Amino acid sequence: MKVDYYKIEELLTQEERLVTSTVKKFTQDIMPVIQKCFREHRPFPVDIVREMGKLGLFGSTIEGYGCPGMSYVVYGLICQELEHGDSALRSFVSVQSSLVMYPIYTFGSPEQKRYWLPKLATGEKIGCFGLTEPDFGSNPGGLQTRAVRDGNHYVLNGTKLWISNGSIADVAVIWAKTEDNVIRGFLVERTTPGFSTSPIEGKFSLRAQDTAELVLADCRIPEKNMLPEAKGIKAPLSCLTQARYGIAWGVMGAAISCYETVLSYAKERIQFDKPIAAFQLVQQKLVRMITEITKGQLLALRLGRLMDEGRATYAQVSMAKLNNVHEALKIAREARDILGAYGIVDEYPIIRHMLNLESVYTYEGTHDIQLLIVGSDITGLRAFT
Ligand code: FAD
Repeated sequence: MKVDYYKIEELLTQEERLVTSTVKKFTQDIMPVIQKCFREHRPFPVDIVREMGKLGLFGSTIEGYGCPGMSYVVYGLICQELEHGDSALRSFVSVQSSLVMYPIYTFGSPEQKRYWLPKLATGEKIGCFGLTEPDFGSNPGGLQTRAVRDGNHYVLNGTKLWISNGSIADVAVIWAKTEDNVIRGFLVERTTPGFSTSPIEGKFSLRAQDTAELVLADCRIPEKNMLPEAKGIKAPLSCLTQARYGIAWGVMGAAISCYETVLSYAKERIQFDKPIAAFQLVQQKLVRMITEITKGQLLALRLGRLMDEGRATYAQVSMAKLNNVHEALKIAREARDILGAYGIVDEYPIIRHMLNLESVYTYEGTHDIQLLIVGSDITGLRAFT
């Protein structure tokens, strides 16, 4: 950790430090490609996915099936280093690990696990997670996609929107309601007749990653492709809890990148015959940044240790997601300000992080929904349904 004001690295094990430095090096090496993809608004190449697979970055907390079975803290550190580069990298790993491999591992049949997990771990196969629909975002329990039984098949109809990696995924975890109105998860392969995807154009955020619309038109899915243990809205929500945990760490990486950039810029940029870092108002911003980064990392680390002990609650995860994304976004915006006009060009990473973080603020449950989850937990009173 280059920015480590409170010597947090000393709280990490040897394995945790080793993974951090490996992923840091990997991210640094691929950044020229990622920056180009962001500028050209195209998903980063599949070669990078395979490299991530070789490093064991997918399903890192899963034991067996070709996965490394590391701790949640390691998973968090991976996210932090990837998002130091770009949110698209962390986001890809979040989707593949927390939203595709986690549900297959947790709710899948032995055959589903044996078939999919090793291929997803290497990056040979890419997955996506289809929960959100055009009319159901914060309220996924209302989803309209239907799965109607027909012999030993289910016929799926519906539309999913804002699906990360949707256009490139080999398999989609689709959440749909069966005739008894219960939400179930289905593994829908790209080759399924009636399944189509189209990328969302004109994004100004997460430009190096694909986001898509998925359409399911009379898709016949064999019964064996249903996740047998996923019953009800709690199943997809438990996947989101996993992903939100990774986000809480990841966004600190983006914030650190902004802080590092702006600290060195402020020491070099001369105005009124002095480096701008010598002005009190600029120092106030820099101090606020490093303070919030330190607090956010300590929150994420404590949460990670609780996850590893199996003691973390979903509301604690929501608190970390809402706090850390909020602070990271504020840091990115203030860093943009300190860079003056240079803050708006991609010669520096700031504007890219800032735009990416706008998505992170919204996805996997918006900032306000996380807040209301914590509010409901501490008062026992739900304010959002
Ligand atoms: P809405 O639910 O319409 O919310 C709009 C506003 O209303 C927000 O400010 C929200 O906080 C507020 N609001 C809503 N309800 C309440 C309430 N009860 N009380 C107070 N305020 C409320 N989804 C997937 O399923 N899979 C993916 O892979 C995926 N990837 C994504 C990638 C990107 C880049 C983005 C932007 C989104 C992605 N999403 C994905 C969708 C994402 O999870 C949703 O956008 C998010 O849940 C919010 O839903 P919405 O956009 O429909 O906003």
